[in-house]
Amino acid sequence: MKKAVFPGSFDPLTNGHLDIIQRASEIFDEVVVAVGINTNKQGLFTPSERLELVEEAVADLPNVQVGQVGGLTVDYMNEIGAKYLVRGLRNAKDFEYERDIAEVNSVLAGVETVLLLAKPENQNVSSSMVKEIAKFGADKLDAFVPAVVVTALQKHFQ
Ligand code: ADP
Repeated sequence: MKKAVFPGSFDPLTNGHLDIIQRASEIFDEVVVAVGINTNKQGLFTPSERLELVEEAVADLPNVQVGQVGGLTVDYMNEIGAKYLVRGLRNAKDFEYERDIAEVNSVLAGVETVLLLAKPENQNVSSSMVKEIAKFGADKLDAFVPAVVVTALQKHFQ
């Protein structure tokens, strides 16, 4: 069985992330979206809020699960028996970054990284852009994030 992990901050989940999750779920038998708990990074949403939003957004994808990662992604992958790591690429900057990490993960743990290209309409979508716009009105965001995230952003900024 081919099991993949898609790790990230997902603060919050965007349509770009969701597209990668959907496409990965067609390639792999099982996909685990791993929400990172980065104690150094103060997020807009708490790790459990971010996890809940991802869970709601992927509820219709039967082979997608959601988990939390506190340490190294490769250790988590070893724990759950996943050999493939999925990441999304929006531009050349993403590529440079991902190539270095993929190399390290390959040496560290023999993990195979699969990089999926962002769809053109998602190339400029990022969690940080979404957070910036949300301060001025989350109702403008339904082109960039799933409906559950629009609602959560509205609550957060009301
Ligand atoms: P991280 O802090 O680990 O980069 P993010 O939540 O920002 O976490 O991103 C998680 C993954 O999703 C990364 O591989 C990133 O390149 C990818 N990603 C982010 N935004 C998009 C998008 N709009 N389209 C496709 N992939 C994306």
